[in-house]
Amino acid sequence: MGPQYTRIMAKITRPQRAKPAPVRKPSPKAVKAAPGTASKSASKTAKKAGKISPAAKAGAGSVKPVKTGLKATKPWTPAEIREAFSRFAASNPEPKGELEHVNPYTLLVAVVLSAQATDAGVNKATRPLFAVADTPQKMLALGEDAVREYIKTVGLFRTKAKNVIALSQKLITDFGGEVPRTRAELESLPGAGRKTANVVLNMAFGEHTMAVDTHVFRVGNRTGLAPGKTPLEVELGLEKVIPAEFMLHAHHWLILHGRYTCLARKPRCELCLIKDLCRWPEKTA
Ligand code: SF4
Repeated sequence: MGPQYTRIMAKITRPQRAKPAPVRKPSPKAVKAAPGTASKSASKTAKKAGKISPAAKAGAGSVKPVKTGLKATKPWTPAEIREAFSRFAASNPEPKGELEHVNPYTLLVAVVLSAQATDAGVNKATRPLFAVADTPQKMLALGEDAVREYIKTVGLFRTKAKNVIALSQKLITDFGGEVPRTRAELESLPGAGRKTANVVLNMAFGEHTMAVDTHVFRVGNRTGLAPGKTPLEVELGLEKVIPAEFMLHAHHWLILHGRYTCLARKPRCELCLIKDLCRWPEKTA
């Protein structure tokens, strides 16, 4: 069992946002090679596997299966992986997620709301919501109509309001009002899928899970650390290669790396901490 949830874990840190990169039409070659480009064949593969929940169930930032564009690059050695994560650790020893929350319950709700929405957009809606409802009991007392009103700026807000009420009810009925600590129990909650479970297990309970959102998926593929056609493949690949001592924070290091450095359209390779280790043939430094 992981450490108890603490306020320290809930503390929000805000890395400096990168200046938005100018939008540039990618070359046909780059489009072909860049992970993050949806493909029909990969989509079919994911459906066939049947292991990834659909978007509404998948939790925040569900990722479309894509072609990786990586053709048998040289795998990273254990020493290279250790070196990369040592650099991430030295540069940001205590990385934090950007979804605002005050306890495991509000973290769970925030992650459910963040599916196909930005963290900033979710935070804007949850600040006033959590001020009046930071427990399942208070959320139920508030009611679905009021919850819908609070989150109406967030995508899919009608479905999400239903899910927030339903999951709050289930927490009270089945789990004594507490957020459960196992993957199976978390995934049984309305609106929560594998990724939601991974985020909650990692951030609230200190488990060594790897939640794969669009950023982690891209970084795992581009760098060659854990190539995979589906988020589950990348998740399992990363869990396999990242040394245990780095796993508590690995999820956040990779998200922040993807969000602020290894950008989807124009990665900032010149600033990248791991540019000498990265296997992406298109890297620019
Ligand atoms: S070198 Fe470029 S492509 Fe590779 S991880 Fe760094 S930013 Fe991403």
